[in-house]
Amino acid sequence: MSRTIIRGGTLVTGGDALRADLLIEGEAITGILTDAAPGPGDRVIDASGMLVLPGIVDAHTHIQLDTGLYRTADNWEVGTRAAAAGGVTTVIDFANQIVGKPYQDALGSRLAETAPSLIDYTFHMVVLDAPRDLGALQRDLQSIRDLGMNSIKLFTTYRPNYYLDDAALLRVFKALPEDMIAMIHCENDSIVSEATQTLVDSGKTGWCYHAEGRPREAEIEAANRVLTLAAMNPSAASVYVAHCSSALTVLDIQRLREREHGGVVYCETCPQYLLLDDAVYLGEQAEHYILQPPLRGESDRELLRVLVEEGAIDVLSTDTCDYTLMQKQASRDFTKTPGGLPGVETLLPLMYTLFCDELGMPVEELIPLMTANPAQIFGLYPRKGGLQIGSDADVVLYDPEPERVIRHTGLHYLAGYSPYEGMRVKGEVVMTLSRGEAIYNRGQFPAQAGRGRYIEAVS
Ligand SMILES: [Zn+2]
Repeated sequence: MSRTIIRGGTLVTGGDALRADLLIEGEAITGILTDAAPGPGDRVIDASGMLVLPGIVDAHTHIQLDTGLYRTADNWEVGTRAAAAGGVTTVIDFANQIVGKPYQDALGSRLAETAPSLIDYTFHMVVLDAPRDLGALQRDLQSIRDLGMNSIKLFTTYRPNYYLDDAALLRVFKALPEDMIAMIHCENDSIVSEATQTLVDSGKTGWCYHAEGRPREAEIEAANRVLTLAAMNPSAASVYVAHCSSALTVLDIQRLREREHGGVVYCETCPQYLLLDDAVYLGEQAEHYILQPPLRGESDRELLRVLVEEGAIDVLSTDTCDYTLMQKQASRDFTKTPGGLPGVETLLPLMYTLFCDELGMPVEELIPLMTANPAQIFGLYPRKGGLQIGSDADVVLYDPEPERVIRHTGLHYLAGYSPYEGMRVKGEVVMTLSRGEAIYNRGQFPAQAGRGRYIEAVS
C-alpha cells in the first residue's frame, strides 16, 4: 500500500495545534508521529511552516442547483474543483423530494448529477410534503435515514414551492427519528411577502430594495417559532438553523437552547454575513449581493463576529450558489434576480484572515467550525472532520504567510465575479488531499473527476 508522510507541519485537530507528522497509508490516516522516518518508496510532503488541517466540510452548498426558475452555471466537476482549490474535501449539498415518489428516487436522481464529483459528498433531503398520517410520515423520514442521510431541510418561506406551514412543521418534528436533525431556512413567509409586495406596489423593485423586502424580523420570528414548535414534542426534535444573517437570531437561539429541550439546537452562519453588510445594496454592483436571507447592517455583522469568537455559532458554511453575472443582471428587478453567492472556494482563506489574522482567534478554535462540528452534527465524524488514526486522509496544507487580494479571475467558479473582490486574504491553500490522493496542488488538479463518493451518515 502506498505510504505518504506529511512532515514538519503544525497539525490542527481536536481543538489543538501541535507540531507532528502525519502518516497516510492508502486512503486513511494511520499514524501521528513526532518525527517520522520515511522508508524506501514513501512519498514525503514537506509541510514546514504550514498548517496541516483536516479537509474542510462545507455543510451547506448548492452545486448544480436547479430551482425550476434558475439553474446555477456549474456542474459537479466544476463546483467541486472550486471546492478542492479552497481546501474543501466534503460538501453537504441537497437532494429534493420528488412529491409522490419514494425518497430513494430523489437520492438516485441527485447521485446521477454528482457522479463527476472530485470530492466526497452527502445531502440534506429537502422535505416538501408532510402527510397527516403520522405512521406514513415516520416511515418516510426513516427511509431517508436508511438511505444514509441524517438530516432533512425544511423551509418556512418560498410559497408555494418549498414552504411548509406550522402544522406541517409540527408533524415533521413529531415524526422525526431521534438520530436525525432538521435543518431549517428561517424566514417568516408572510413578513417577507408583505414587505416585498409593498415595495412592488410602489414601484420600488430596484436591487437597492432587496434587503428591505426581507427584513431581519422575518428571520428572528421564524427561528423563535421553529424552536418552539420543535420543543413541543416529548422527544424534542433536533434542529439546525441555517445561514443566520442577524446576530439577534443567534442571541435568541442561545437563550432558547438553554431552555429544557430534549433535542439539540445548532446554528450556522456564513462568510457573507460576517464580511459584508447592506451598504452594498446602495452601491454599483448591488446585484452581486442578492441572496436570501439578505445582508444586514453593520451592527449585526460586528456582533455576529463576536458571537463566533464566543462559541455561539456551531458551523461556518457557505450556502454557495454559482449564478453568473449574466443571470444576475438579466433583470433589474430584485424579485426576479436569482439569489445566492459563490463562496465555497474562499471559505477557509476568508475565515482564517478575519478570525485568526485580524481578530487573533487561535486557529485551533476556528477550524472545528468548518470541520469537526459539521462532521459530528451530520454523522460524518470521525471519518471526516478530524486528523485521527483511522480517519479518511482528507488533509489541507495551508501556508499562513502569503498575502494576496481576491480576484475572481483567480478563482475556479463560472460566476464571473466574487462577492469578496479586492479583499485581502492572509495565507493560501497549497495542497488538498482527499482520501490520501492530491486533488489540488499549487494551482493544479492532478486527480480524475468522478473519484468522489457518497458518504453515508453514521449515528
Ligand atoms: Zn441554501
